Amino acid sequence: MNASSNTRAQTLPAHHARPDAQGFFGRFGGAFIPPELRRQMDEINAAYQRISRSHDFIQELRSIRTHFQGRPTPVYYCKNLTEKIGGARIYLKREDLNHTGAHKLNHCMGEALLAKFLGKKKLIAETGAGQHGVALATAGAYFNIPVEVHMGEVDIAKEHPNVVRMKILGARIVPVSRGLRTLKEAVDSAFESYLQDPVNSIYCIGSVVGPHPFPLMVREFQRIVGTESREQFLAMTGALPDNVVACVGGGSNAMGIFSAFLDDPVALHGVEPLGRGAKLGDHAASLSHGTEGIMHGFNSIMLKDSHGNPAPVHSVASGLDYPAVGPEHAYLYTTGRTHVGTATDDETIRAFFQLSRTEGIIPALESAHAIAYATKLAPQNPAQTILVNLSGRGDKDIDFVMEKYGHYAGENHCD
Ligand SMILES: *Cc1c(COP(=O)(O)O)cnc(C)c1O
Repeated sequence: MNASSNTRAQTLPAHHARPDAQGFFGRFGGAFIPPELRRQMDEINAAYQRISRSHDFIQELRSIRTHFQGRPTPVYYCKNLTEKIGGARIYLKREDLNHTGAHKLNHCMGEALLAKFLGKKKLIAETGAGQHGVALATAGAYFNIPVEVHMGEVDIAKEHPNVVRMKILGARIVPVSRGLRTLKEAVDSAFESYLQDPVNSIYCIGSVVGPHPFPLMVREFQRIVGTESREQFLAMTGALPDNVVACVGGGSNAMGIFSAFLDDPVALHGVEPLGRGAKLGDHAASLSHGTEGIMHGFNSIMLKDSHGNPAPVHSVASGLDYPAVGPEHAYLYTTGRTHVGTATDDETIRAFFQLSRTEGIIPALESAHAIAYATKLAPQNPAQTILVNLSGRGDKDIDFVMEKYGHYAGENHCD
């Protein structure tokens, strides 16, 4: 695996030059949106290109990361888990220790800082499980910019703790009662609200998805995860990791850590949720089982139903429940730079308990997909190292896991 990825990485173009000016990563990405929205996106892009290079922006973001978020987060060697699995040495990038307990705050603080520089009076977003809403509500509180979160009524009922968090943080929740009353309708509602006053508000996307420039901007705000962990891993071990592993929903935590290793002889593995199995509707493994198409304003690889619309998806981790991936993932996968693996719900729950019990770290169910995959990869590559992006902590998942999977806790293989 190493020899082949070595030569391949060296002959590939410089990945950090992507996307092109129209937002294309190869043929993926772009901005397939109405002209009115396109004008707004062009303005956001121009402002981002200018402001993100300014001394004041860079200094303020750096200070926020250190003093508010608690960065850098550590890289940790999982000695117990490594010994238990027997194989490659497993390391974690501890994004669970980032303020609010996940990587999402990295790009929400960046987006909100951009909004501040642009003099925006409102941050608008949709949320499904509520994690993006909570991160954005945190950023809004920090910058004293009002936050409006659109959320389907079904999700509001399901995700009570995150709804409460957003309210405590001062965000206004807009319940969406149309259609299936979940994420898709919340996206429509949020876009409508944004288009009513695009001059004074800004739409904040929660992953490396959506029209250009969001896949680029969110990746750049998440790049800190890769930059830090590359330096930390080198300092700890004297070498680069052989493998980097991250779960992929929309793909922001994976692009964040991958971006620092694209030009290195390092194998990059994105892990998709295989849910209950490979049947359409039972998983959200978009790259593994999807086809090319346009959705939510960008061209990528996605799961479609028989009418070509976004297919229903399932994952035990609500943060991975998305029928597409960001365009850069589609590009990197189809050009052979990244590998794609999967973890089922069942493998994920076992990994959730295993990491908790061997290392004293309760992972988010999303991140537990990456752990599950790493524990499959490790025995096949005993002389190697694996760096896993632990994208978040699992406190949000504990009630659900014990109610539905409590019986797993007592199994032998989880001791
Ligand atoms: C939202 C979320 C994810 C999935 O989003 P990506 O954009 O694919 O990173 C993964 N892990 C955690 C903890 C999340 O909250």
